[in-house]
Amino acid sequence: MFKSTESYFQGRTALLATKHGKEQVIAPALARLGVTVVVASDFDSDRFGTFSREIPRCGTQAEAALAKAEAVLAQTDADLVIASEGSFGPHPQFPMLPSDRELILLLDRRHDLVLRGEVLSLDTNFSHATVSNLEEALAFGARVGFPSHGLIAMAQAEPLPNTPIFKGIQSEEQLQRAIATLQTHSSTLHLETDMRAHMNPTRMQVIAQAAADLVQGMAQGCPQCGSPGFVAREHLPGLPCELCGAPTSAIKASRYRCQRCLYELTLPVPETAADPSQCYFCNP
Ligand SMILES: [Zn+2]
Ligand SMILES: [Zn+2]
Repeated sequence: MFKSTESYFQGRTALLATKHGKEQVIAPALARLGVTVVVASDFDSDRFGTFSREIPRCGTQAEAALAKAEAVLAQTDADLVIASEGSFGPHPQFPMLPSDRELILLLDRRHDLVLRGEVLSLDTNFSHATVSNLEEALAFGARVGFPSHGLIAMAQAEPLPNTPIFKGIQSEEQLQRAIATLQTHSSTLHLETDMRAHMNPTRMQVIAQAAADLVQGMAQGCPQCGSPGFVAREHLPGLPCELCGAPTSAIKASRYRCQRCLYELTLPVPETAADPSQCYFCNP
């Protein structure tokens, strides 16, 4: 059904706007389409905002990713650029649980295309705590995957100017030193998970999923005009219940739309009936 997009991407090189090692999961994903990923040298993505608060992020998640990608396009003669941006907070459907939304953008200047991959995952260690000694700090660390996952320590959640911020803490010795220094500023201190990709293997895996989502869209050419990015924009519920035939909350079909020629296609899911557990009548 999808047209091949090989002529769009095969043999090209994409510059990746990152300095946090994201190429280790993004490059293998893009290699499937014959695209070589190269890290944009001298690119300081922290200029566009840091998780550890020194620099606030500019705009929304999508705006921040776009700003990074456009900065690389402006600074180089690259015609294919990738940028990624994470956002952490309560899950929209389960607000008691933290979530990681990863967005990855591909800007293709040659074909005037912007494609995106996106994942919303509950798989994250995003957390923080107030602690007063090493023992409490290590107890927090044990809950969030320290030391394979890095920590950030500061005197308080909104650090005062001229108080140190310790990032990328990955050993008990580093943690101990950070606590000793911070205790000269404050009796309690604020610890949080370091969400930078190279400090957070769990996040790196979610970025890999977002990259896979991007690659899937890149590979799906519009059946009418061939433009890449022919992906489902909408999922329509209403798959009939297996027992009573009433429409359920389960997805019945997905609506695809081309961003270039606006061609639309509604494709039914392979299943013909929904499990009664998803039925309002059989399982109210
Ligand atoms: Zn099209
Ligand atoms: Zn039913």
